[in-house]
Parts: sequence; C-alpha cells; structure tokens
Amino acid sequence: MGRLALVLFLVFAALLVFRALRLLLAAVFSARSRLAGPGSIEGEMVRDPVCGTWIDRRLAMAARTGEEWVPVCSEECRERAAATLPLPTRTREGQAGGKGT
Ligand SMILES: [Zn+2]
Repeated sequence: MGRLALVLFLVFAALLVFRALRLLLAAVFSARSRLAGPGSIEGEMVRDPVCGTWIDRRLAMAARTGEEWVPVCSEECRERAAATLPLPTRTREGQAGGKGT
C-alpha cells in the first residue's frame, strides 16, 4: 500500500511539474512576442500603447515615457505618450517630487 501511494504521489508530482513547465514556457513565449525592444526582429509588428494601433516596427516612431522608449505610430501619439503614459520603470525617487517630507 505504501508503495502504491508513493507511485501515485510521484505521478501526481510529475504531472504538476509538467503543467508548471508548460505554463512557464507559454508565459515566456507570449512575453517575448509582446516585449519588442528597440533593434529586434525586422518587420515585426508592434503595438502603439497610446492609440492601440499595430504598426510595423520599421515605421514606428519612438516615444519617451520616463526612462522607457515605446513605439508609436505618429508624431501626435508620441507627444501624447510623453504627456500621458505612466512611467513603466520608476526606479529612482525624488526626481520629480515636488512635495517635501
Ligand atoms: Zn498611435
């Protein structure tokens, strides 16, 4: 009986590990397709975070939001991105702080 329980436990554990690996792989692949940094694959489609339009990476303009560069479709979106988008990577503090204490 003890042996059977052990086998069942091992099978269950293996299934869990397999499932976790698959989830992990799926997450990695979807993240890779979404995060397209500057200078990646040519002809790749990137999404303008301002208006939501998909554009060819080569035709995209770069908008600066904080310390991050994001692809945008037009000059208008670039200005809006700089003005409205939240800062994705905010590691430094006290840079834009107006309040004391
Ligand atoms: Zn746009």
